[in-house]
Amino acid sequence: MSNSNIRKALNKVTETRDIVLSNGVIERAVSVYQNHFDGVPAILIADENTFSVCGEEIYQQLRAANLTSIDPIVFPGSPMLYANYDNVLLLEEKLRSTIGVPVVVGSGTLNDLTKLASHHLGREYMVVCTAASMDGYTASGASISRDGFKQTFACPAPRIVLADLDVLMKAPYKMTASGYGDLIAKNVAGADWLVAEAMGIEPVDKTAWDMVQGSLLNSIENPLLLRTKDHVIYQRFVEGLMLSGLTLQYYKGSRPASGAEHLMSHLWEMHEVAHGVYSHGLKVGLATIASAALYEKVLERDFQKLDVEKTVKDYPSRDQINEEIKRIHSNPQVIESTISQCMAKYPDRDVLLQRLSVLKENWQAIKARLLVQLIPASKMRQMLTDAGCITHPNQMEKSLDDLKTAYRQARLIRSRYTVLDLAAETGCMEECLDELFSPGGFWS
Ligand SMILES: [Zn+2]
Repeated sequence: MSNSNIRKALNKVTETRDIVLSNGVIERAVSVYQNHFDGVPAILIADENTFSVCGEEIYQQLRAANLTSIDPIVFPGSPMLYANYDNVLLLEEKLRSTIGVPVVVGSGTLNDLTKLASHHLGREYMVVCTAASMDGYTASGASISRDGFKQTFACPAPRIVLADLDVLMKAPYKMTASGYGDLIAKNVAGADWLVAEAMGIEPVDKTAWDMVQGSLLNSIENPLLLRTKDHVIYQRFVEGLMLSGLTLQYYKGSRPASGAEHLMSHLWEMHEVAHGVYSHGLKVGLATIASAALYEKVLERDFQKLDVEKTVKDYPSRDQINEEIKRIHSNPQVIESTISQCMAKYPDRDVLLQRLSVLKENWQAIKARLLVQLIPASKMRQMLTDAGCITHPNQMEKSLDDLKTAYRQARLIRSRYTVLDLAAETGCMEECLDELFSPGGFWS
């Protein structure tokens, strides 16, 4: 499949103009840069780790080509750089005194900091990827912590992405595992989109769907070979990450690549104030299994027999949900933003009545479609195990009770409609959780 899918996707987006993905492309960094920023000076950004990986090499190339005359901006290697707003301002300040194109050498954090800082200064930038750790290289928006919680700031994706497979494969393997968790998540995220469409909430965009789902299974197959860094498998995997980010750029929203599993990981990330021990993708991977397991329980229900009137009557009121949110969070800004997100999807009586009636009427077809889409939870767990990911909460110092709580709370933090809402609105969430966590259940 090689880069033809990426070429096709690039034709549909406006921010990223080129993705150079292959072995040994670091050597071509300057010519790639020149193709897009002909003669404009460059400013290299890295941290001590990525500077030694290939940042210095690129810096020397830029100097030799007379494309930079100023010192590179190199953040300390430890403690690990954190994607917070202070660091965005710090980088912005350093960039402000120069003219030129930021060329950032790094992965999630460095890319997000540069993405937002460049946007504030009205500049395009280029990223040289150092790990296949997430799908955010090609996505618009930066995930930055401000005022004590993680938020997504709107900003354009990089103009150029350079991904040298030799460099990515040399990164610590747990970073690849993290990328794998972030990519396999698109399977359940896709199911959530199908549910949202079926419930009349958010129609599936065929182009975005094909971009992210079209080659997904191909990109996540054979995690054991991924671990041994088989070239073909590794390249397909990185292409999957790039396509996922491009889809978000195209769709101008995260729906195509983010569902209940991302809500659970956001819930865990929300209150982190430093770089977490467990990366985004590892948390997402665990939450992906959790979502797949909940789907299986929900799909065992026969909603053709749903007592719609009673279910609507039993659904919690706005006040009850607001109280629940205040009980869960302590940061007033988090409470405010969470309440507004959650109330945006709150179904009033008539809406819920209509929604559940549609579900009841079309349940067989919805169920059949979801069964085609979803990877079974046990297989998902095996694939993530093979990829070296986290597959049980105790591998990230969380208990089964913490996971159960995340199932209940994650849907309350964003307006996105997912399987968590489906379970809650049909009144089967607690029953499903009992089955998942009781002896003999999936999580026992
Ligand atoms: Zn993600």
